[in-house]
Amino acid sequence: SLSDRLTGALKDLRGKGRLTDSDIDATAREIRLALLEADVSLPVVRTFIANVKERAKGSEVSAALNPAQQIVKIVNEELVAILGGETRRVQLAKTPPTVIMLAGLQGAGKTTLAGKLAKWLSGQGHTPMLVACDLQRPGAVQQLQIVGERAGVPVFAPHPGTAVGGEGTLGVSSGDPVQVAQAGVAEAKTKQHDVVIIDTAGRLGIDAELMRQASDIRDATNPDEVLFVLDSMIGQDAVSTAQAFAEGVDFTGVVLTKLDGDARGGAALSVREITGRPIMFASTGEKLEDFDVFHPDRMASRILGMGDVLSLIEQAEQHFDEAEAQRTAEKISQGELTLDDFLQQMLMIRKMGPIGNLLGMLPGAGDMKDALSQVDDKQLDKIQAIIRGMTPAERDNPKIINASRRIRIAKGSGVTVTDVNQLVDRFFAARKMMSQMSGRMMGGGMRKNQR
Ligand code: GDP
Ligand code: MG
Repeated sequence: SLSDRLTGALKDLRGKGRLTDSDIDATAREIRLALLEADVSLPVVRTFIANVKERAKGSEVSAALNPAQQIVKIVNEELVAILGGETRRVQLAKTPPTVIMLAGLQGAGKTTLAGKLAKWLSGQGHTPMLVACDLQRPGAVQQLQIVGERAGVPVFAPHPGTAVGGEGTLGVSSGDPVQVAQAGVAEAKTKQHDVVIIDTAGRLGIDAELMRQASDIRDATNPDEVLFVLDSMIGQDAVSTAQAFAEGVDFTGVVLTKLDGDARGGAALSVREITGRPIMFASTGEKLEDFDVFHPDRMASRILGMGDVLSLIEQAEQHFDEAEAQRTAEKISQGELTLDDFLQQMLMIRKMGPIGNLLGMLPGAGDMKDALSQVDDKQLDKIQAIIRGMTPAERDNPKIINASRRIRIAKGSGVTVTDVNQLVDRFFAARKMMSQMSGRMMGGGMRKNQR
């Protein structure tokens, strides 16, 4: 399977301390094969591999991860990206009912999905109604009625007397799916159902008649969502089918079905990239409950088959931040803080929100709070500009910043010499204060208090 192949390709990298370009090329070749074998379409594979290679060879270095982990991380992120990144929600109509039309080949899972979607929407407080527009396949209407009954939602059907719950017995008795669809939407309006789900007919293959019928239903009902239902097990045909429906009916979202099967992942990876439409839902079984919103990140880690490695990577990165913070804390307590550290600290604090609130939460930070509370964003920008105008040696050892250096820095940063003086003074004062404070917190008070 795709995940076995990918896992294999990436496992070879483990234990390598450094990756050469040829390591990366070899891994990329393996991944390429794995994707092609899983029926991912060629243009998608090309883009994918190019992106992974570029990032792997690029300057993207994380000190937290070894090179192998870094590639796993990149592959995972690229998988998530190609699967659509974030999940898109169902588009609801401003004036109900919201009309959702299902389209796809016969056997894709449309009728089953109608029930799943209806149940899911009911659970969210909606009052959906199903409309049976597959008048082609014998028994299709009855199948939808059974599905509706299970989901506990009414079904609008064309033939009098066959509907569940007294619905769908009105008016239409013709065999025209377009009329049924229109009448269904009208019925939903009257009965105040806020969502209408239109089940349509499919064929075993793509054909003009099927497309015309589907686009006629679309034109007649003006749906808020047209969901293209795709059997994820159809392999290579997924792309051509998706393209045909994109051209013939045009859809707003994709639903992948039968993901519980031995799906090779190819359809999922191709369809989004090829059609530009998001995958919105996933169907994973025959029961009504086997259904969920599509989560690109979950699908990616499923395809990658490396859930454990991925969580390790996450941990490593978190831990790394802590290690960094620990080192800075030590520098502070030793009075060895550099101007670079100072800048980093300030930028970090700025990212976290209003400085005052934050410092107020730290024990014993009263003095520092006073010192820093006058620093607003504008001043931070200025400080940043001044520090960036210094040479590395000056940032590292601010004691060497003499009068002539101050003039040079002021010119280079577009500030006055007084500004530079103020910053240098403030830095030395802060460094002293922070060192004293951390001495108090780490040495005396804290430890005793813990006993
Ligand atoms: P339609 O022709 O597009 O309406 O497809 P159906 O809803 O009738 O489904 C065709 C077959 O696939 C039925 O036997 C369903 O039970 C089955 N099916 C639909 N969705 C899934 C799924 O997600 N997983 C599995 N295992 N079977 C499914
Ligand atoms: Mg059907």
